[in-house]
Amino acid sequence: MNIPFSPPHIDDAIINEVVSALRSGWITTGPRTKAFEQMLAEYCAVQHVVCVNSASAGLELALRWFGIGPGDEVIVPAYTYTATAEVVLHCGAKLVMVDVNDDLLVHVQKVRDAITPHTKAIIPVDIVGLPCDYQELFDLVCDSDIQRIFTPNNEKQQQLGRILLLADAAHSLGAYYKGKHTGALADISVFSFHAVKNLTTAEGGAICINLPESFDSETIKKEMNTLSLHGQSKDAFSKVKAGAWRYDVCSIGYKCNMTDVAAAMGIVELSRYDSLVLPRRKAIFDAYNQAFKNDPQYVVPTYETADKISSYHVFTLRVNNITEKQRDAVILDMAEQGVAANVHFIPLPMLTAYKSLGYRIEDYPNAYRQYACEISLPVYFDLSDEQVNEVIRALKAAVAKVCL
Ligand SMILES: *Cc1c(COP(=O)(O)O)cnc(C)c1O
Repeated sequence: MNIPFSPPHIDDAIINEVVSALRSGWITTGPRTKAFEQMLAEYCAVQHVVCVNSASAGLELALRWFGIGPGDEVIVPAYTYTATAEVVLHCGAKLVMVDVNDDLLVHVQKVRDAITPHTKAIIPVDIVGLPCDYQELFDLVCDSDIQRIFTPNNEKQQQLGRILLLADAAHSLGAYYKGKHTGALADISVFSFHAVKNLTTAEGGAICINLPESFDSETIKKEMNTLSLHGQSKDAFSKVKAGAWRYDVCSIGYKCNMTDVAAAMGIVELSRYDSLVLPRRKAIFDAYNQAFKNDPQYVVPTYETADKISSYHVFTLRVNNITEKQRDAVILDMAEQGVAANVHFIPLPMLTAYKSLGYRIEDYPNAYRQYACEISLPVYFDLSDEQVNEVIRALKAAVAKVCL
């Protein structure tokens, strides 16, 4: 048996909708992208969504929209993918990393300790689909001592009057926290629709706007849309209307809009996300959980609590009392048995680019501790029960062999 890690689920419904987009004569941003944005806004219960070509672009757009640049600081967890952090550096701001809890989510007290008068945003990451502690994070940014040292340097920052909570929700579409969907949990949240994510458009992302009521979200949507399309006042779709050829360029923008070919995939997937995709992922999580939760050799990931329901993105199993080298040997042994496992993630301070910027893994001991014994198991729609059992068998056999 050969079990890959996370192949996309592509069926006739998706292929037919993509073909329809191609045949429609409108392949770039147009009616399908607008429809997908509307569906996402309704699904998450937020007023406005802007689709872009990646979560990375969406995160950077949000930081740029808030006017973050040199002299500013942005706090991110050390345990995440590089995209969360690189966008901060692209904006020219200072990247401030903090350690995580055992559930791999950012440690709120450590965030508090890292705040200075230069802190403009925090990017909590809903790692593998479990929402962060948003209530605690909002309590923190709204705390009067923290708000007092906030130093706005433009109108938007003045209007918000506090640190921006920008959620990296790349993994967590469909997850819940205190009865609300992700997308509606932070000021701005960004989903990823990359090929390995729960819902894919091959490449893609979405920005959910959920700022306090003093902001006009319609205007913000327009601003972000414009920023994603060269700062041009009209998109190509509006320009095809008879006689509407004239455009202006209002700001120096970027080029990161979603295409209708991509949105066609998203529309099909979102329409069956709750009825088919999430239930299958949950069943796989439950099977892994059942297999490992009572075995003292393993620590299973948190995926359902009183306040939270995960989107079941990746099953982050941890093996007690093994070293990083042994963990690597377990993954290699599983590969030899035909089962692809993975590690989510290598903490940023262990990667060359961040090491060379001076970050040291010693400063994030829990990120290292969790990483060193973590093994991500395959979770995807087409993974059969038989394959799930094979993953469990292969893993247990590999651990028994390596830890002899
Ligand atoms: C995949 C991922 C991203 C980036 O998503 P793209 O759509 O590929 O830009 C950001 N953050 C995390 C945690 C991710 O896993």
